[in-house]
Amino acid sequence: MRKIRENLRTYGGLACMCTLTAPGQEAGLIWDRNVCTHPEGVTCSGMIGCKVLPKAAELWNEHSKSWWRELNRVAKQRADRAVRQLGHDYRGGLLAYEWELQKRGVSHLHFVLGMESGVERAWAFEYVKALRELGPRKGFGYVDAKPLRSPQVAEKAAAYISKYLAKWSADGSFEVTETVQVSRNDP
Ligand SMILES: [Zn+2]
Repeated sequence: MRKIRENLRTYGGLACMCTLTAPGQEAGLIWDRNVCTHPEGVTCSGMIGCKVLPKAAELWNEHSKSWWRELNRVAKQRADRAVRQLGHDYRGGLLAYEWELQKRGVSHLHFVLGMESGVERAWAFEYVKALRELGPRKGFGYVDAKPLRSPQVAEKAAAYISKYLAKWSADGSFEVTETVQVSRNDP
């Protein structure tokens, strides 16, 4: 967490945070109907407490890290190529990223893109475009491109990411969130 904060503070410029979600039921993340608490006929959602079948969630969480490495590599290549065509000798990359365990039982990925210079902004748009095009084929869901239109100071993105990793309890003590506990239990 401190590393992410320091990286983003060092960067100092404008940035934006986007989120790559896990796919839906059509990609095998089937809802565990046994734990649904809503009436029949209501569409399942993590927002109303529905959970993905534990075995399916576990498999996705296990494989998504390597799928992500591959997706990120190809999306970077595409964005590098696109800005090269605009005449920039520039290779982009993420400022930071962090997995967060969603309520429905699968992780999604928050990532931060630099948006300070023109070439960085062009690169960020191309990178997200590539994720949106290739993501579903590589086992992922959706990326909302809207944050690209409202960049903010990088440190704000850091604060946002930190919220997922740790939170202050009402009694003033500090506790780690489910996300951290789960990754700590990894073999
Ligand atoms: Zn449900």
